[in-house]
This record gives sequence, C-alpha cells and structure tokens, in this order.
Amino acid sequence: MEQIRPMGHPHMKFLVVVFDGLRPDQLNEKVTPNLCALSKLGLVLNNHTASFPSETRVSSAAIATGSHCSGHGIVANKFFANGVAIDGSSLPALLALGSEAGGVMTSVALGEVLAKHGKTMLAVGSQSQGSWGLSNWGNWQSGGPAYWVHDAERFASNEVIRRIAAGFPPLPVGEQPALQTIKRVIDGFLAYAASEALPELTLLWLSEPDISYHMFGLVHPSAREVLSRVDREFGRILDWWETERKKERIQLIAASDHGHAIIGKHISVVEHLRHAGFKVGDAFGPDADVVVKAQRAVNLWVHKHDVGLLNEIHSCVSVEPWFGIGFSRTTEGDAPLVQGTLPHSAVMAEHPRSADLTFVLGSCASIDADVDPETVFYDGAYPVGVGMHGGLTSFELSVLGILAGDWFRPGVLRTPTGIVDLAPTILAGLDLPIPETVQGRILEEAIGGDEGPIDEVEDASLSVENAGSWATVQRERYRGRLYLKGTNYKSAQHQGDIGRVTTAAI
Ligand SMILES: [Zn+2]
Repeated sequence: MEQIRPMGHPHMKFLVVVFDGLRPDQLNEKVTPNLCALSKLGLVLNNHTASFPSETRVSSAAIATGSHCSGHGIVANKFFANGVAIDGSSLPALLALGSEAGGVMTSVALGEVLAKHGKTMLAVGSQSQGSWGLSNWGNWQSGGPAYWVHDAERFASNEVIRRIAAGFPPLPVGEQPALQTIKRVIDGFLAYAASEALPELTLLWLSEPDISYHMFGLVHPSAREVLSRVDREFGRILDWWETERKKERIQLIAASDHGHAIIGKHISVVEHLRHAGFKVGDAFGPDADVVVKAQRAVNLWVHKHDVGLLNEIHSCVSVEPWFGIGFSRTTEGDAPLVQGTLPHSAVMAEHPRSADLTFVLGSCASIDADVDPETVFYDGAYPVGVGMHGGLTSFELSVLGILAGDWFRPGVLRTPTGIVDLAPTILAGLDLPIPETVQGRILEEAIGGDEGPIDEVEDASLSVENAGSWATVQRERYRGRLYLKGTNYKSAQHQGDIGRVTTAAI
C-alpha cells in the first residue's frame, strides 16, 4: 500500500527504549515519574496495541520489521518448523530456520535497511538472546554496534562494544528481578554515547518489568519497586536526552512489546488431549501425530495437516470452559479450514509456519463473573497470581507508546496505532525507503498538526459461534490497517440470537 510520507530529515536520529511487558496503565507519578514526565513532553499513543501472539519474540520481530507474524514468520516464542521444535529464546535455534543472511524472518528488518544504505544502529539489550538477535536483525551480522549485555562477545564483532563491555564487571547469571542487568543496558548506552557519535537509530531493550511481572504480578509491592527502579534508570536517559536532543534532533520513543494479564487457573492441553486418546508428542513419530506448543496461545500441528484429525481435536478442546477462540488456515473465500474457528488471517497470523490449529485460552471472568477480570487460563510453569501474556485479552494487547522530540506533536493520540507502525514511522523520519514487507503505517497523525479524524475508526470485530458459545475478536480498522483490541465471550445460555456466524470477509 502506498504510504504518504511526511517530511523526514536525513540528520534526524531516533532513540527507542523498550520496557518489556510494561502495561501503560501501570504508569503513575509516584512509581514512574520519569515516564510521566516524558508523557507530558511528548505524544502519548492512547490506543496502542501489540501484535498476535503477544509474546516477546513475536513482538521483537514485529518491532524490527513493522510486520505481523504473517509477514515475519516468527509465529510464537516456541514453535514447530521443518519437523523440529524451535525455541525462539535461542538465536542458534532461530538460525536453523534460515541463515544469518536471511530466511529466519520473512520480512525486512530496520537493521537491514540501515545496513543497505551504509548506516548502522546501536542495539543494547538484556532480553533473551533470540529476541535480541531479532530486534536488531541485520545490524549485528554486519558488524554494527550490538551489545547483548549477557555476553558481549557471542554475536557482536564490533570493537567499540567489546571495549565498552570489557570495562564492566560480570553480571549475575539469570538475575531475577533483573535490576543490575537493566542498569547495564543504560550504562552501556551512556558509555557509547560518551565516546562515539550515535548512529541514526538506537534500540535499548530492558527485560524489566516483564521478569518481575512474571514473578509477582503487576500490583505487588515488589513489582512496583522494580518498576520504580526501571523508571529511575530511564531518568538517566531522559537527563542525557534533554541536553543532547537540542544538538542532534534526537527523537525519543518509549515503548513496550506487549502487556500482561494475570494467571487465574492452570490447565494442561497435552494432558487433556492424551486423556481423550490423542497421540501427542514433541515431534511426529509412530507414537505421535499431534505436536502441541502451549502457553496463553496454544499451537497444534498435526501429521500431514490431517483435516479430520484437526476437527476431532477442535471438537475435544473447544467445549472446555478454558477454551477461548480458535484459528485455522485460511482457505478459499477467507473461510477457516476448521469449522467453528476464525481464519489465521483474522489476527494477521497466516504464514507457512503457522500451526494447523491455534487457540487462545479464555478469561476466567467469562465463566465466573466474581473473579478478577484480568485473570486468564494458562498452560505452563508460572504460578497462579502472576503476570502472563501471549493471548488476545485487552490486558495483554495494551502497550506503551510515547513519541517525544521536535518531529512529533505533543498531546494524546486516540486513533488506533500498533507496534508494527513504529518501523515505518522511524524509516520515514530517517528519509529511508520503506520495504514492501512492512504491514504497519507511518503515523502521520503523530507528526502533523492535527489528530486524524477519529470518526474514520471502524469497528471490524469478528465473531464465531462454537458449541453454543460466541467468541469475538475485537478489532479496529483505521487507514487500511487492522488493530487487535481484545476478546469477548458469551455463552449460549445468555444469548438470544445464536445461529448467525459473522466470519465476514477480511
Ligand atoms: Zn516481552
């Protein structure tokens, strides 16, 4: 789609700070005074959402490429491709999908565009190695300044980064909460900025507050304390920027990759399927014709894409109270392969690597009105009461977005925006071409004098009936793009007009 390009500037620079898992409603003057100060200086994206599934590796690829998983092909944190299990936290595992030169992601990354035009990006991050590698894909391979703070030597060949990293003491391994670790990201950045000119784009990725949310939930005093420490570290960036931006037209973006819901109840999809007689394994073999990768979003691959087996599995799981909403391959006329699901394309997740059947686990509140509305069903190792993400609730999809600098207008933006819109907006600002694989849009209304007309926002929600219950994916369409907003469930007992399935063409 042709994008109208606001005037970029060849001498402008961007500094993007990602706060892993930070949900924007957690900001307040007491805990996060520095992020609140930035909100007042800049433009707050008030209707800003993640991509699906709302998992870190998927989001890293989405932020790097400006595309959803239908474009970049990192379809989950952990998935199954070419007959093997891929754990996206490991960069070597991801490289098994393609090579350092390409094929791991199937859309073009910011780092690749910069490298192609003789420019670099500075990437400093403390997230998993796989997520870090995706987030600055194209940069670390071409010798750009790339500092993965857990091990500076492993993938970076940049001499400046090696020198800076050598000046720091070792970090505690597996630190939780990751306080010294995120401080290292800021220390690394400030050390670089003190001795070198910043490249056109800098991406800093802090693995908190995500780690502490997974340990304590969002509102626990320990989680608040970590967020406060994260904000204090960000304050060092803000102080630096206040001086430097006047010299260099540096635009500062504070962002997150996904939000968090709260684990309300555990279930095990594998146990459920085995109990029902299905042959589930880690790979296809004589004893296994189903492979399951479960978290908040559950992905299932069946041997030879057997449609009969898929329908049996769907019938088995979709009657359970923990089942949320299912997705299967898009066939002719945008129909889903499995009756009672929506097509993968409904959530921008149609890719050759997509699972044969994907479903999100439901919300606890949809079956019990008395529980915390943020609580959800979950299949995995984290305990009840802590934060989790990956699904389609508004809590998981809601993300932070603050754009500050002289290129952006200040205020609050209510139009729908998403993490895939950051890459094309940054490329436009740098006056660089936008690859055809980009699915997001340039946020023109963040740059011009006026907010875009809010009445152009169209409700593009999709509902599907299954086993007497309705599930809805709430979506908004704006300027030709779809934005995922949440889910809604209604059981048959409370619904008068069952029978109408609105799987409208997408
Ligand atoms: Zn994350």
